[in-house]
Amino acid sequence: MPFQLTDEQVLTRDSVREFAEAEIAPIAAEIDQNHRPPLESIGKLAEAGLLGMLIPEEYGGAGLDALSYAIAIEELSRVCATHGVLVEAHSSLCTWAIAHHGTEDQKRKYLPDLASGEAVGAFGLTEPNAGSDASSLATTAVRDSDEFVLNGQKIFITNGGFAKTFVIMARSTDAPGVKGISAFIVERGRPGFEILEPERKMGIRGSSTTPLAFTGCRIPAANLLGQEGAGFKIAMQILDGGRTGIAAQAVGIAQGAFEAACKYAKERVQFGRPIAALQAIQWLIADMAVDIAAGRALVYRAADLESRGEPHGQAAAMAKLFCGEMATRVTGKAIQVHGGVGYTEAYPVERAYRDAKITEIYEGTSEIQRLVIARHYLR
Ligand SMILES: Cc1cc2nc3c(=O)[nH]c(=O)nc-3n(C[C@H](O)[C@H](O)[C@H](O)COP(=O)(O)OP(=O)(O)OC[C@H]3O[C@@H](n4cnc5c(N)ncnc54)[C@H](O)[C@@H]3O)c2cc1C
Repeated sequence: MPFQLTDEQVLTRDSVREFAEAEIAPIAAEIDQNHRPPLESIGKLAEAGLLGMLIPEEYGGAGLDALSYAIAIEELSRVCATHGVLVEAHSSLCTWAIAHHGTEDQKRKYLPDLASGEAVGAFGLTEPNAGSDASSLATTAVRDSDEFVLNGQKIFITNGGFAKTFVIMARSTDAPGVKGISAFIVERGRPGFEILEPERKMGIRGSSTTPLAFTGCRIPAANLLGQEGAGFKIAMQILDGGRTGIAAQAVGIAQGAFEAACKYAKERVQFGRPIAALQAIQWLIADMAVDIAAGRALVYRAADLESRGEPHGQAAAMAKLFCGEMATRVTGKAIQVHGGVGYTEAYPVERAYRDAKITEIYEGTSEIQRLVIARHYLR
């Protein structure tokens, strides 16, 4: 399916690229080295309209279509995958959920702050014993008159260290399996809601990834998001959009590494000429370019289906699967083009290689994407 970006989408791509190069590129290596969340970027991202992309205009956002959003995530990730996932988790996993499943009161209460950067969003599904099998989650939300009382633990929550608004999945009825799961909005600072120590990770090291603990945490019953018992369905819808976002992140990481490899190949001289003149290097460059173009086409296809209100879960799973594995391949080749220096922190491809790996894991591993895709054909 050929895609002709609209003038607005081209403008989004160009302006996010300019913003990322000016505001994010200068700190990308440092936040990685120091495992430091880039808190100073939150206001800048908000000012550039990048925290309200999936929030309707009437609640202070930009109300972008899914393709424009994917393009923006690609551009942020091209420079820094940490910033890419900060915005992706905030947007796809939190603001989208409230904008699509929230009551009018919830939208008015939470979305303007999430668009302005006053609050950053996060999403809590995963638990120590519920990863790929998210339906086995054990956190409970027990109704007590006009409140729910939360008990349990979440792990690996992106933006956990600084987010103010969390969309949390918990079991609120005795109904078995997915039927007992509901979604809730939980605000940071509630008594009994504790943010635990962040993980130290292989890549996206500036991204804050924390466990959350709920111990008798009381939230208003009005913070139920969507119908009681609809939580798992909401989580799967969230992930349908989120997977396109992660696929876009993977394309951005690969694109950044590819550009670095092209630049280095033209500069590095061996045997009396730039290594770009060697066919072995040209083939690496050609294979990387084809891989990225194929991945981007899958992202655009999934995002375009979503923008048009068509079913897009299958297309998102395909994009996520291909792009996650593609980014690992492409960043590995980018290191190969650089030779020894590519293996050092002196060049950005080392960081890109570490960052790429997570796109094969979060929001559903590659194995889970294969299950989703195969189920579609074999049902
Ligand atoms: C940096 C980071 C950020 C994250 N951010 C968030 C977040 O913001 N919110 C959130 O809720 N979660 C988040 N996660 C959790 C993430 O989505 C899970 O780690 C992921 O879904 C895999 O679950 P798991 O780690 O428990 O692996 P497991 O489910 O234990 O899987 C282990 C291995 O078994 C394979 N496997 C499992 N089941 C099957 C099957 N049925 N068929 C074939 N293979 C299978 C997996 O593919 C994998 O290879 C994050 C994780 C990380 C590392």
